[in-house]
Amino acid sequence: MKVLVINCGSSSLKYQVLDMTNEVLECKGLVERIGMDGSVITHEKTGIDKFRDVTPMADHKDAIGHVLAAIQDPEHGVVKDMKEIGAVGHRVVHAGEKYAKSLLITDDVIKALEECTQLAPLHNPPNLLGIAACQELMPGTPMVGVFDTAFHQTMPPESYIYAIPYEFYQKHGIRRYGFHGTSHRYVAERASDILNVNLDDLKLITCHLGNGASVSAIKRGRCIDTSMGFTPLEGLVMGTRSGDIDPAIVTYMRECENLDQGVANEILNKKSGVLGISGISSDFRDLEAAAEEGNERAQLALKVFAHKVRFYIGAYIAEMNGCDAIVFTAGVGENDIGMRDIICNDLGNLGIKLDVVKNRVRGKEAIISRDDSAVKLILIPTNEELMIARDTKDIVEGVKIKQNRY
Ligand code: AMP
Repeated sequence: MKVLVINCGSSSLKYQVLDMTNEVLECKGLVERIGMDGSVITHEKTGIDKFRDVTPMADHKDAIGHVLAAIQDPEHGVVKDMKEIGAVGHRVVHAGEKYAKSLLITDDVIKALEECTQLAPLHNPPNLLGIAACQELMPGTPMVGVFDTAFHQTMPPESYIYAIPYEFYQKHGIRRYGFHGTSHRYVAERASDILNVNLDDLKLITCHLGNGASVSAIKRGRCIDTSMGFTPLEGLVMGTRSGDIDPAIVTYMRECENLDQGVANEILNKKSGVLGISGISSDFRDLEAAAEEGNERAQLALKVFAHKVRFYIGAYIAEMNGCDAIVFTAGVGENDIGMRDIICNDLGNLGIKLDVVKNRVRGKEAIISRDDSAVKLILIPTNEELMIARDTKDIVEGVKIKQNRY
Protein backbone atom coordinates (compact mmCIF):
# COMPACT_ATOMS: atom_id res chain seq x y z
CA MET A 1 0.00 0.00 0.00
CA LYS A 2 1.18 3.55 -0.79
CA VAL A 3 0.51 6.09 1.93
CA LEU A 4 0.46 9.87 1.58
CA VAL A 5 1.57 11.57 4.80
CA ILE A 6 0.42 15.14 5.32
CA ASN A 7 1.67 17.59 7.95
CA CYS A 8 -0.20 20.90 7.62
CA GLY A 9 0.95 24.12 9.30
CA SER A 10 -0.80 27.47 9.10
CA SER A 11 0.99 28.61 5.95
CA SER A 12 3.05 25.57 5.05
CA LEU A 13 2.56 21.89 4.38
CA LYS A 14 4.99 18.98 4.33
CA TYR A 15 4.19 15.73 2.58
CA GLN A 16 5.67 12.34 1.71
CA VAL A 17 4.56 9.30 -0.25
CA LEU A 18 5.83 6.01 1.16
CA ASP A 19 5.44 2.58 -0.35
CA MET A 20 4.59 0.60 2.77
CA THR A 21 5.17 -2.82 1.25
CA ASN A 22 8.87 -2.16 1.89
CA GLU A 23 8.72 1.18 3.77
CA VAL A 24 10.44 3.07 0.95
CA LEU A 25 10.19 6.84 0.63
CA GLU A 26 9.05 7.56 -2.94
CA CYS A 27 8.81 11.34 -2.85
CA LYS A 28 8.57 14.25 -0.45
CA GLY A 29 7.87 17.92 -0.64
CA LEU A 30 7.08 21.19 0.99
CA VAL A 31 4.54 23.87 0.19
CA GLU A 32 5.27 27.30 1.64
CA ARG A 33 3.50 30.67 1.81
CA ILE A 34 -0.01 29.21 1.45
CA GLY A 35 -2.48 32.08 1.11
CA MET A 36 0.31 34.66 0.64
CA ASP A 37 2.20 36.18 -2.27
CA GLY A 38 4.86 33.86 -3.65
CA SER A 39 3.29 30.47 -2.75
CA VAL A 40 5.77 27.79 -3.72
CA ILE A 41 5.94 24.01 -3.89
CA THR A 42 9.25 22.14 -3.72
CA HIS A 43 8.93 18.48 -4.73
CA GLU A 44 11.56 15.77 -4.75
CA LYS A 45 11.17 12.30 -6.16
CA THR A 46 13.65 9.93 -4.53
CA GLY A 47 16.74 9.71 -6.73
CA ILE A 48 15.99 12.63 -9.07
CA ASP A 49 16.41 16.40 -8.87
CA LYS A 50 13.93 18.56 -6.97
CA PHE A 51 11.58 20.88 -8.78
CA ARG A 52 10.30 24.18 -7.48
CA ASP A 53 7.16 25.85 -8.74
CA VAL A 54 6.11 29.33 -7.66
CA THR A 55 2.37 29.48 -8.26
CA PRO A 56 -0.57 31.13 -6.47
CA MET A 57 -2.17 28.95 -3.75
CA ALA A 58 -5.07 30.68 -2.06
CA ASP A 59 -5.71 28.13 0.67
CA HIS A 60 -4.95 24.62 1.92
CA LYS A 61 -7.27 23.01 -0.64
CA ASP A 62 -5.35 24.74 -3.39
CA ALA A 63 -2.07 23.61 -1.85
CA ILE A 64 -3.19 19.97 -1.57
CA GLY A 65 -4.36 20.18 -5.21
CA HIS A 66 -0.79 21.09 -6.20
CA VAL A 67 0.61 18.27 -4.04
CA LEU A 68 -1.67 15.75 -5.77
CA ALA A 69 -0.63 17.11 -9.18
CA ALA A 70 3.06 16.80 -8.23
CA ILE A 71 2.74 13.20 -7.12
CA GLN A 72 0.98 12.35 -10.40
CA ASP A 73 3.37 14.37 -12.58
CA PRO A 74 4.61 12.23 -15.51
CA GLU A 75 8.28 13.01 -14.78
CA HIS A 76 8.45 13.74 -11.05
CA GLY A 77 5.42 11.82 -9.83
CA VAL A 78 5.19 8.40 -8.19
CA VAL A 79 1.64 7.32 -9.14
CA LYS A 80 -0.33 7.36 -12.38
CA ASP A 81 -3.65 7.65 -10.63
CA MET A 82 -4.63 8.76 -7.11
CA LYS A 83 -6.35 5.39 -6.68
CA GLU A 84 -2.83 3.98 -6.12
CA ILE A 85 -2.73 5.91 -2.82
CA GLY A 86 -4.35 3.51 -0.36
CA ALA A 87 -4.64 5.93 2.54
CA VAL A 88 -3.64 9.34 3.87
CA GLY A 89 -2.00 9.78 7.30
CA HIS A 90 -2.43 13.20 8.88
CA ARG A 91 -0.26 14.57 11.64
CA VAL A 92 -2.53 16.24 14.18
CA VAL A 93 -0.97 18.07 17.11
CA HIS A 94 -3.58 17.90 19.86
CA ALA A 95 -6.14 15.25 20.69
CA GLY A 96 -6.49 16.31 24.34
CA GLU A 97 -7.55 13.42 26.56
CA LYS A 98 -9.84 12.14 23.86
CA TYR A 99 -7.49 9.86 21.91
CA ALA A 100 -4.56 7.82 23.19
CA LYS A 101 -3.75 6.27 19.83
CA SER A 102 -3.97 6.92 16.11
CA LEU A 103 -7.30 6.24 14.46
CA LEU A 104 -9.44 6.38 11.35
CA ILE A 105 -10.86 9.85 10.81
CA THR A 106 -14.65 9.96 10.92
CA ASP A 107 -17.08 12.85 11.37
CA ASP A 108 -17.08 12.16 15.12
CA VAL A 109 -13.28 12.31 15.26
CA ILE A 110 -13.28 15.64 13.42
CA LYS A 111 -15.84 17.00 15.89
CA ALA A 112 -13.68 15.86 18.82
CA LEU A 113 -10.56 17.44 17.28
CA GLU A 114 -12.43 20.69 16.73
CA GLU A 115 -13.21 20.65 20.46
CA CYS A 116 -9.46 20.37 21.15
CA THR A 117 -8.77 23.48 19.06
CA GLN A 118 -8.81 25.78 22.09
CA LEU A 119 -5.91 23.74 23.51
CA ALA A 120 -3.85 24.17 20.31
CA PRO A 121 -5.20 27.27 18.57
CA LEU A 122 -2.19 27.61 16.26
CA HIS A 123 -1.84 23.95 15.26
CA ASN A 124 -5.14 22.09 15.16
CA PRO A 125 -6.98 24.47 12.78
CA PRO A 126 -4.47 23.99 9.90
CA ASN A 127 -4.34 20.23 10.63
CA LEU A 128 -8.13 20.14 10.26
CA LEU A 129 -7.99 22.24 7.08
CA GLY A 130 -5.60 19.67 5.60
CA ILE A 131 -7.95 16.81 6.47
CA ALA A 132 -10.96 18.63 4.98
CA ALA A 133 -9.06 19.41 1.76
CA CYS A 134 -7.92 15.79 1.33
CA GLN A 135 -11.43 14.49 2.00
CA GLU A 136 -12.77 16.78 -0.70
CA LEU A 137 -10.08 16.02 -3.27
CA MET A 138 -9.69 12.30 -2.51
CA PRO A 139 -13.22 11.12 -1.71
CA GLY A 140 -13.32 7.48 -0.67
CA THR A 141 -9.64 7.34 0.39
CA PRO A 142 -9.36 6.43 4.09
CA MET A 143 -7.76 9.07 6.32
CA VAL A 144 -5.97 8.37 9.58
CA GLY A 145 -5.12 10.88 12.33
CA VAL A 146 -1.83 10.48 14.21
CA PHE A 147 -1.63 12.72 17.27
CA ASP A 148 1.44 14.29 18.90
CA THR A 149 -0.21 14.05 22.31
CA ALA A 150 -1.42 10.43 22.06
CA PHE A 151 1.74 8.63 23.17
CA HIS A 152 1.86 10.63 26.41
CA GLN A 153 -1.66 9.70 27.47
CA THR A 154 -0.21 6.82 29.52
CA MET A 155 1.32 9.28 31.99
CA PRO A 156 0.00 8.75 35.51
CA PRO A 157 -1.91 11.63 37.16
CA GLU A 158 1.05 12.52 39.38
CA SER A 159 2.99 13.35 36.19
CA TYR A 160 0.26 15.33 34.46
CA ILE A 161 -1.63 17.19 37.21
CA TYR A 162 -0.48 20.75 37.96
CA ALA A 163 -0.66 21.90 41.55
CA ILE A 164 -3.29 24.55 40.86
CA PRO A 165 -6.96 24.30 41.97
CA TYR A 166 -8.24 21.00 40.60
CA GLU A 167 -11.28 22.72 39.05
CA PHE A 168 -9.01 24.22 36.37
CA TYR A 169 -8.26 20.68 35.21
CA GLN A 170 -11.89 19.60 35.44
CA LYS A 171 -13.40 22.69 33.82
CA HIS A 172 -10.73 23.73 31.34
CA GLY A 173 -8.53 20.67 30.77
CA ILE A 174 -5.46 22.43 32.21
CA ARG A 175 -3.00 19.57 32.70
CA ARG A 176 0.24 18.37 31.16
CA TYR A 177 -0.25 16.71 27.74
CA GLY A 178 3.22 16.46 26.20
CA PHE A 179 4.13 16.72 22.51
CA HIS A 180 6.54 15.15 19.96
CA GLY A 181 4.84 11.85 20.91
CA THR A 182 5.23 10.32 17.45
CA SER A 183 8.98 10.97 17.52
CA HIS A 184 9.45 9.62 21.07
CA ARG A 185 7.49 6.49 20.12
CA TYR A 186 9.45 5.95 16.90
CA VAL A 187 12.87 6.20 18.54
CA ALA A 188 11.77 4.04 21.49
CA GLU A 189 10.74 1.29 19.08
CA ARG A 190 13.99 1.63 17.14
CA ALA A 191 16.02 1.52 20.37
CA SER A 192 14.28 -1.75 21.25
CA ASP A 193 15.20 -3.13 17.79
CA ILE A 194 18.81 -1.91 17.98
CA LEU A 195 19.32 -3.32 21.50
CA ASN A 196 17.40 -6.45 20.56
CA VAL A 197 15.45 -6.19 23.81
CA ASN A 198 11.67 -6.14 23.99
CA LEU A 199 10.24 -2.69 24.80
CA ASP A 200 8.42 -4.30 27.73
CA ASP A 201 11.80 -4.96 29.33
CA LEU A 202 13.30 -1.50 28.82
CA LYS A 203 13.51 1.76 30.73
CA LEU A 204 14.32 4.48 28.18
CA ILE A 205 14.94 8.20 28.22
CA THR A 206 14.36 9.71 24.80
CA CYS A 207 15.78 13.18 24.12
CA HIS A 208 14.17 14.91 21.12
CA LEU A 209 16.50 17.88 20.81
CA GLY A 210 15.57 20.08 17.87
CA ASN A 211 14.41 23.64 17.57
CA GLY A 212 11.58 22.43 19.80
CA ALA A 213 12.90 20.01 22.39
CA SER A 214 11.49 17.52 24.87
CA VAL A 215 12.60 14.54 26.95
CA SER A 216 10.43 11.52 27.79
CA ALA A 217 10.69 8.73 30.35
CA ILE A 218 9.45 5.50 28.76
CA LYS A 219 9.02 2.49 31.02
CA ARG A 220 8.02 -0.82 29.43
CA GLY A 221 6.93 0.99 26.26
CA ARG A 222 4.65 3.41 28.08
CA CYS A 223 5.43 7.08 28.49
CA ILE A 224 5.39 7.86 32.23
CA ASP A 225 6.61 11.44 32.03
CA THR A 226 7.61 14.05 29.48
CA SER A 227 9.03 17.55 29.73
CA MET A 228 6.50 19.48 27.61
CA GLY A 229 3.24 20.23 29.35
CA PHE A 230 -0.02 22.03 28.72
CA THR A 231 1.68 23.60 25.70
CA PRO A 232 5.01 22.95 23.96
CA LEU A 233 6.47 25.87 25.96
CA GLU A 234 7.21 23.88 29.12
CA GLY A 235 10.33 21.85 29.85
CA LEU A 236 13.72 22.15 28.20
CA VAL A 237 15.31 25.37 27.00
CA MET A 238 14.64 25.42 23.23
CA GLY A 239 15.72 27.36 20.14
CA THR A 240 13.40 30.29 20.87
CA ARG A 241 11.17 28.97 23.71
CA SER A 242 11.93 29.58 27.37
CA GLY A 243 11.01 26.15 28.73
CA ASP A 244 10.43 26.01 32.50
CA ILE A 245 10.41 29.38 34.23
CA ASP A 246 8.93 30.65 37.48
CA PRO A 247 5.33 31.49 36.45
CA ALA A 248 5.52 34.72 38.48
CA ILE A 249 8.03 36.04 35.95
CA VAL A 250 5.29 36.53 33.37
CA THR A 251 3.31 38.98 35.50
CA TYR A 252 6.46 40.73 36.71
CA MET A 253 7.89 41.05 33.19
CA ARG A 254 4.60 42.49 31.96
CA GLU A 255 4.58 45.06 34.76
CA CYS A 256 8.22 46.05 34.28
CA GLU A 257 7.95 46.58 30.56
CA ASN A 258 4.22 47.37 30.30
CA LEU A 259 3.68 44.45 27.94
CA ASP A 260 0.33 43.17 26.79
CA GLN A 261 -0.44 39.46 26.95
CA GLY A 262 0.25 38.83 23.26
CA VAL A 263 3.70 40.42 23.44
CA ALA A 264 4.62 38.47 26.60
CA ASN A 265 3.51 35.27 24.86
CA GLU A 266 5.60 36.12 21.82
CA ILE A 267 8.67 36.82 23.97
CA LEU A 268 8.40 33.42 25.70
CA ASN A 269 7.74 31.50 22.47
CA LYS A 270 9.78 33.32 19.84
CA LYS A 271 12.45 35.43 21.54
CA SER A 272 13.62 33.26 24.43
CA GLY A 273 15.51 29.97 24.63
CA VAL A 274 19.10 29.89 23.38
CA LEU A 275 18.28 32.83 21.09
CA GLY A 276 17.17 34.91 24.07
CA ILE A 277 20.20 34.06 26.19
CA SER A 278 22.78 34.48 23.43
CA GLY A 279 21.17 37.37 21.55
CA ILE A 280 22.71 35.75 18.44
CA SER A 281 20.73 32.85 17.00
CA SER A 282 18.50 29.89 17.77
CA ASP A 283 20.69 27.68 15.57
CA PHE A 284 23.23 25.66 17.51
CA ARG A 285 25.72 25.82 14.63
CA ASP A 286 25.81 29.64 14.92
CA LEU A 287 26.07 29.43 18.69
CA GLU A 288 28.94 26.98 18.58
CA ALA A 289 30.82 29.13 16.06
CA ALA A 290 30.31 32.19 18.28
CA ALA A 291 31.24 30.25 21.43
CA GLU A 292 34.42 29.09 19.73
CA GLU A 293 35.33 32.72 19.06
CA GLY A 294 34.89 33.48 22.76
CA ASN A 295 31.37 34.90 22.81
CA GLU A 296 30.38 34.45 26.46
CA ARG A 297 26.63 34.63 25.99
CA ALA A 298 26.74 31.97 23.29
CA GLN A 299 28.80 29.82 25.67
CA LEU A 300 26.27 30.46 28.43
CA ALA A 301 23.29 29.58 26.17
CA LEU A 302 24.85 26.21 25.33
CA LYS A 303 25.60 25.51 29.01
CA VAL A 304 22.06 26.42 30.11
CA PHE A 305 20.60 24.15 27.39
CA ALA A 306 22.78 21.20 28.44
CA HIS A 307 22.10 21.82 32.14
CA LYS A 308 18.37 21.45 31.57
CA VAL A 309 18.70 18.24 29.53
CA ARG A 310 20.89 16.75 32.31
CA PHE A 311 18.36 17.91 34.89
CA TYR A 312 15.57 15.95 33.18
CA ILE A 313 17.77 12.91 32.59
CA GLY A 314 18.51 12.82 36.34
CA ALA A 315 14.86 13.27 37.23
CA TYR A 316 13.72 10.50 34.92
CA ILE A 317 16.38 8.08 36.17
CA ALA A 318 14.93 8.69 39.66
CA GLU A 319 11.34 8.29 38.42
CA MET A 320 12.09 4.96 36.72
CA ASN A 321 14.58 3.73 39.35
CA GLY A 322 17.22 3.38 36.63
CA CYS A 323 17.55 3.54 32.89
CA ASP A 324 18.77 1.08 30.26
CA ALA A 325 19.34 3.52 27.42
CA ILE A 326 19.26 7.21 26.56
CA VAL A 327 18.36 8.09 22.98
CA PHE A 328 19.35 11.31 21.19
CA THR A 329 17.30 12.45 18.23
CA ALA A 330 16.19 15.51 16.13
CA GLY A 331 18.44 18.25 14.67
CA VAL A 332 20.65 18.88 17.71
CA GLY A 333 20.45 15.36 19.14
CA GLU A 334 21.38 13.77 15.82
CA ASN A 335 24.07 16.19 14.69
CA ASP A 336 25.60 18.10 17.55
CA ILE A 337 28.59 16.07 18.70
CA GLY A 338 29.73 18.78 21.13
CA MET A 339 26.33 19.13 22.77
CA ARG A 340 25.98 15.36 23.31
CA ASP A 341 29.45 15.48 24.85
CA ILE A 342 28.50 18.24 27.33
CA ILE A 343 25.20 16.54 28.22
CA CYS A 344 26.84 13.19 28.98
CA ASN A 345 29.94 14.58 30.67
CA ASP A 346 30.76 13.35 34.19
CA LEU A 347 27.75 11.08 34.69
CA GLY A 348 29.83 7.97 35.37
CA ASN A 349 28.30 7.44 38.81
CA LEU A 350 24.91 7.07 37.10
CA GLY A 351 26.37 4.42 34.80
CA ILE A 352 26.47 6.81 31.83
CA LYS A 353 29.76 6.79 29.91
CA LEU A 354 30.01 8.40 26.48
CA ASP A 355 32.63 7.07 24.06
CA VAL A 356 34.12 10.27 22.62
CA VAL A 357 35.32 8.48 19.49
CA LYS A 358 32.04 6.67 18.76
CA ASN A 359 30.28 9.98 19.43
CA ARG A 360 31.91 11.51 16.33
CA VAL A 361 28.93 10.65 14.17
CA ARG A 362 26.07 12.61 12.68
CA GLY A 363 22.62 11.73 11.38
CA LYS A 364 22.78 7.95 11.48
CA GLU A 365 21.93 5.20 13.93
CA ALA A 366 24.82 4.44 16.26
CA ILE A 367 25.58 3.32 19.78
CA ILE A 368 27.83 6.02 21.19
CA SER A 369 28.43 4.76 24.74
CA ARG A 370 31.53 2.96 25.96
CA ASP A 371 31.34 -0.82 26.18
CA ASP A 372 31.45 -0.58 29.99
CA SER A 373 28.61 1.96 30.16
CA ALA A 374 25.67 0.43 32.09
CA VAL A 375 23.36 2.87 30.30
CA LYS A 376 23.55 2.59 26.51
CA LEU A 377 23.68 5.91 24.65
CA ILE A 378 22.10 5.69 21.21
CA LEU A 379 21.80 8.11 18.33
CA ILE A 380 18.64 7.49 16.30
CA PRO A 381 17.47 9.86 13.53
CA THR A 382 13.78 10.38 14.06
CA ASN A 383 11.24 9.55 11.37
CA GLU A 384 7.80 10.78 12.32
CA GLU A 385 6.51 10.40 8.77
CA LEU A 386 7.37 6.70 8.72
CA MET A 387 5.62 6.24 12.07
CA ILE A 388 2.54 8.02 10.71
CA ALA A 389 2.61 5.88 7.56
CA ARG A 390 2.97 2.68 9.64
CA ASP A 391 -0.01 3.57 11.83
CA THR A 392 -2.02 4.55 8.77
CA LYS A 393 -1.33 1.29 6.97
CA ASP A 394 -1.98 -0.80 10.09
CA ILE A 395 -5.25 0.94 10.87
CA VAL A 396 -6.52 0.77 7.31
CA GLU A 397 -5.55 -2.91 7.16
CA GLY A 398 -7.19 -3.52 10.53
CA VAL A 399 -4.03 -4.35 12.46
CA LYS A 400 -4.14 -3.50 16.17
CA ILE A 401 -1.40 -0.91 16.45
CA LYS A 402 1.54 -1.29 18.78
CA GLN A 403 1.18 1.95 20.71
CA ASN A 404 -2.03 0.57 22.24
CA ARG A 405 -0.15 -0.91 25.21
CA TYR A 406 -2.63 -0.23 27.97
P1 AMP B 1 14.91 20.24 14.09
O1 AMP B 1 13.94 21.16 14.76
O2 AMP B 1 14.87 18.85 14.61
O3 AMP B 1 14.86 20.33 12.58
O4 AMP B 1 16.37 20.78 14.50
C1 AMP B 1 16.85 22.00 13.97
C2 AMP B 1 18.07 22.44 14.75
O5 AMP B 1 19.09 21.41 14.70
C3 AMP B 1 18.76 23.64 14.13
O6 AMP B 1 18.18 24.83 14.58
C4 AMP B 1 20.17 23.50 14.61
O7 AMP B 1 20.27 24.21 15.83
C5 AMP B 1 20.35 22.03 14.89
N1 AMP B 1 21.36 21.43 14.00
C6 AMP B 1 21.18 20.91 12.77
N2 AMP B 1 22.36 20.45 12.27
C7 AMP B 1 23.30 20.68 13.22
C8 AMP B 1 24.71 20.46 13.32
N3 AMP B 1 25.40 19.87 12.34
N4 AMP B 1 25.33 20.84 14.45
C9 AMP B 1 24.64 21.42 15.45
N5 AMP B 1 23.32 21.67 15.42
C10 AMP B 1 22.65 21.31 14.33
